[in-house]
Amino acid sequence: MNDTFAPTPRPGPGFADLHLHTLFSDGTFSPEELAGHGARHGLVAMALTDHDTVEGCARMALACRKLGIQSIAGAELTAEQDGNEVHILGYFLDVEDTRLQVNLRQFQTVRQNRIHEMVARLNRLKIPLRAETVFALANCHSPGRPHVGRALVQEGFCGSLDEAFDRFLKKNRPAYVPKFKISALEAIALVHQAGGLASMAHPGLNRSDEIIPALAAAGLDGLECFHTKHTAAMTAYYLDIAARHHLLVTGGSDCHGFSKGKPLIGGCKLPAVYYDRLNQHYQAKAADRAPRAAVAAQSS
Ligand SMILES: [Zn+2]
Ligand SMILES: [Zn+2]
Repeated sequence: MNDTFAPTPRPGPGFADLHLHTLFSDGTFSPEELAGHGARHGLVAMALTDHDTVEGCARMALACRKLGIQSIAGAELTAEQDGNEVHILGYFLDVEDTRLQVNLRQFQTVRQNRIHEMVARLNRLKIPLRAETVFALANCHSPGRPHVGRALVQEGFCGSLDEAFDRFLKKNRPAYVPKFKISALEAIALVHQAGGLASMAHPGLNRSDEIIPALAAAGLDGLECFHTKHTAAMTAYYLDIAARHHLLVTGGSDCHGFSKGKPLIGGCKLPAVYYDRLNQHYQAKAADRAPRAAVAAQSS
């Protein structure tokens, strides 16, 4: 475990944002810019949760530390359960864990292959976009649909990102390519073996509440009750579900910088008390694991 990422408990008032993206996936801010926005909004804690990568986490940790903000190394994994798409947020990940790195590299390869397939479909539709253009624009290991959309706008094939999605990239549109997904249970297991805690992202957007009990039984640690697209009623509803299934409460803006309109950071604030509980749970789990790891090392 790299202690760059080991946060110290910081109880008290304030707000956290535990769902954030940078240009290491489909966001537009660097980790330093993102941390700066967090500081301006007075956040006490931030978690970087780029899609299928932890590459920005070291820079995020450093930038946050300079600003007196707690940071969590995280990632957002795309998964599915019973035919429903589910996003699993991993928190307090050991970014140097070999199995995590191998798995993330596989997910990134799947993403890159998907870009080639989407571009091939566009080419068949007589849109002469080149995959190299998308990769150059994305300039990261975790390219996704928003990058294809931005490339379509940049090259003048579409007037806006919305138009690119509506005409070509949305589900059931002609350049849409379904994404290979691991199961939610596999995603939770992957987060756990990397020493982290797993939370189900924005349940209000996926409308698959019926799978929450099974995921909770399988070890899901948290539920993202606070999210930009959750109404106050939805937040209250999911707080109740979290309490019933003994799940920790997480929340965040899902800010992508200027990728999807204006930056969302600061608009959805997780009361710091929930961050403190998450942190305490992680510390207790890590403390529980450390002596056992020491015993295992002695006996081997
Ligand atoms: Zn995204
Ligand atoms: Zn997200």
